[in-house]
Amino acid sequence: MTIDPYDNPPTILATRIFPGILPSTSQHNVSWNEDGQCLFITKKGVNILTPHLTTTFSPPPTLVDPTLQLKDNNNNSSNVRNQAGNSFVVEDGASDDDEVDLDGGLDEPLISGLDNTTTNNNNNSSKVKSKIRMKRPKNGEIKFWNTGIELDKEGKRNDHYGWNEYNDEIDTVLIEKDVTTRQAIWSPSGLTDLGGSLLVGLSSAMQVSVYAPRNDPYTKQWDEIADLTSIMKGLIPPKEGPLSLKESLGLRTMSIQWSSHLPLPSMIGIDGSLLALSNRAGKITFWSYGLDKRFHQLRSSDVCQIGGWVSDMAWSEWKVLDDESCEAHLALTLTDGSIRVITVIRKIELKSSGRREWALDIHPSFMIDRGDKRTITSIKWIEDVLIWTKPGTVHIFAGEGNRTVQWNGILSLRLERVGNWASANALGPCIGINRINRDTLVIVLSSLTTHIIENFTTSPQLAHPHTSLRNALALRDIFEDHLHSDPLIKIRFRSIEMQPEGWTANTSGWTSLGWGGAGTWVTEPMSFHTLDNATEGKRSMTFVIGNPGKARLSPDESVIEALKGILSDSPKLLYCSPGRILMPYLLHILSLRGPEFMMDELFGLLSSVLDGSQDDLSKKKEQGNENLIEEFWVDATLDRLRLAYVLASWCETTYPSSAEKFRPITNALSILISSQLLAKLMTWVITYLSSGGIGNSDRQFSSQVIKSANQLSDEKSKSHSLSQLAAELDSKLSKDGMANNAEHQNWEERCPACHNEVGSEGICSKGHVWSRCSITHLLVTHPHYRVCSTCPAISLLPKKHLSVPIVVDDQGKDHDYRRFQVNPEHSEENEDKLIQVALESAVCCLNCGGRWQRAV
Ligand SMILES: [Zn+2]
Ligand SMILES: [Zn+2]
Repeated sequence: MTIDPYDNPPTILATRIFPGILPSTSQHNVSWNEDGQCLFITKKGVNILTPHLTTTFSPPPTLVDPTLQLKDNNNNSSNVRNQAGNSFVVEDGASDDDEVDLDGGLDEPLISGLDNTTTNNNNNSSKVKSKIRMKRPKNGEIKFWNTGIELDKEGKRNDHYGWNEYNDEIDTVLIEKDVTTRQAIWSPSGLTDLGGSLLVGLSSAMQVSVYAPRNDPYTKQWDEIADLTSIMKGLIPPKEGPLSLKESLGLRTMSIQWSSHLPLPSMIGIDGSLLALSNRAGKITFWSYGLDKRFHQLRSSDVCQIGGWVSDMAWSEWKVLDDESCEAHLALTLTDGSIRVITVIRKIELKSSGRREWALDIHPSFMIDRGDKRTITSIKWIEDVLIWTKPGTVHIFAGEGNRTVQWNGILSLRLERVGNWASANALGPCIGINRINRDTLVIVLSSLTTHIIENFTTSPQLAHPHTSLRNALALRDIFEDHLHSDPLIKIRFRSIEMQPEGWTANTSGWTSLGWGGAGTWVTEPMSFHTLDNATEGKRSMTFVIGNPGKARLSPDESVIEALKGILSDSPKLLYCSPGRILMPYLLHILSLRGPEFMMDELFGLLSSVLDGSQDDLSKKKEQGNENLIEEFWVDATLDRLRLAYVLASWCETTYPSSAEKFRPITNALSILISSQLLAKLMTWVITYLSSGGIGNSDRQFSSQVIKSANQLSDEKSKSHSLSQLAAELDSKLSKDGMANNAEHQNWEERCPACHNEVGSEGICSKGHVWSRCSITHLLVTHPHYRVCSTCPAISLLPKKHLSVPIVVDDQGKDHDYRRFQVNPEHSEENEDKLIQVALESAVCCLNCGGRWQRAV
């Protein structure tokens, strides 16, 4: 029997205070991508946070390193203070009239990383106030990396868009002096050079740009690679004079949403996801990024007359109709309060060139609910059931024949007040809709109050107010914890005793991680009692990952059962990184009273995956397949091994005292993965060789793969098939070599420094040390390479990715796609064709499915 103690108090997994102010609230304001990165929007731009969870990178520097203080209190504490003072940047010189009170302001962050026992033993404990401190994970809060994007505030491109020339009543209300962030969304994963997500930002000037990470998505710059407003402007036929009203409104985007990946395995690696933009002229336009890595507007669809528009959208998941087509629904909220749905179908189309592409079919929109002129505050699909909220009410639509609930029609629920603190009422905007288990939904409002809906599948109804309150109180406790420790609030209220009930948690967005109770939100404390109105420089917001623990209803399965489920039927790692898949389960384990509770269960689970996969693989034979990307990313056994490998590595670092116990599993999984990959590569090269010869670089690559395969089959005598494949490839290669009369010397691997032979570990006889590319097994001899963000693998860069993303020019013209275009002059050159295909097929790390980072 597995133990899964849910009687767990609320836990703060991570918090961080950011200077600045929140934008208006919306459920989209905080969101996770499929790479395990979280964005939240501020007035000035977008912050991107990445937790340090399943990675071999060393942890990001924190504001203060608590271990410094433990080791040597006397000598280091002043350094620690200085460090803390420097890292907490207060904008606009907030300290001009208010001195930053380091003692009062920063002793709380000093202890935030420690659990209670350590704090009590600390000599400095007299300084630590005995005020309530919420439970933290045993090893301290989860750290995270941080970077961000600032939207174009200056409006330099306004002249280029030409949209300010039109002075009509409808249009002039659009022009704001201060441009802020209106919305930011993630693309599906697997679209950037690094195998991750793009970010799309919408400004309050209703302008849309797309951003891609340059070399390190966690801490470095994201570049603007496309300005969709500028592309739209380019689609308007050139003419004399200003834009017409319709054209001008068509350029103004009101909301953005990107669909998920299409789930047909035969099209893996061929992006068919759709970006939908709604504009001020009452239209929806559909965009693709696709194979040529360039944004195209595919279609536009009229929804309503000028004067109204689509204010928010939600994509359903894709439903597979047959082997060749998928269907998704795009739900729309209109300014008149009505709800409409557009059905979108994508179908595989065989082009005359032999290339397969996605065809697009868009049905006209149909109305689901006429509305009552009240504003819709949020909209979301839960499988094929649509949920939307208005101030004080929740509405659920289940179509006939839906596969989620046992009823159909539209159902409305009136929310009741939960909590007695300032602004706790049922009328605030909804900032989160999540399904906790099969039968329970949780609705979160901007005051951080929660409303539970029960019996979702049979007859949805509002839960007893105590159930909702219990959950709301857990979030409230977490809020009061950071209210008491927020340095800027302490500075402003140092003479007044803090009365939490007068404070409201003005929360801009709330999202769950999928499974379990942990949620992510960004909140700014506001006092209504004192009518506190601080200037922007003195305001701050707090990013939180918290688990309400036992206050939340339990998921359907225990954490181990749920992990077993995803290990036997993993989402495709090309579309979702292993760290992101595991994140909700690992966060749950970290919030247990002691994570070591789960250690034995995890060990048992990993051992059974290892045994099961060995059986599976002994029965398997590689089929020749020319499509390497399909070979690497469709195989469910391989994805299961990768996921188990990442989980085993996490156990090694999380349970240091039992690392020895987990290490053999990690190693065995790693060897199984390598032998799978080598078998796939060799089968692919053999298939290729039967239709033509290969160049010297490719020959060197093939021989290196053979060497690695032979070495692996020596180590693991079981792999007969690996040595057989190696022998087969070797004989094909030498036949081909004779036919071409190639000289052996030209392609044999030599140390670039001394021209001696290099061993399998990458060390030559003179002791020069080189790293090997985890994909091609060639030596990495120049600074252009990529490293895996999750495991220790490194890899050469495909030629197409050598240059970093090209930023749009002053006029907003995009040039980035040019990096991926084949240069006809070089297409004759086949010297390293196989190497390039192999590297390009490694969209993500082949060993673990992790996303890449570039060295330079
Ligand atoms: Zn050497
Ligand atoms: Zn990796």
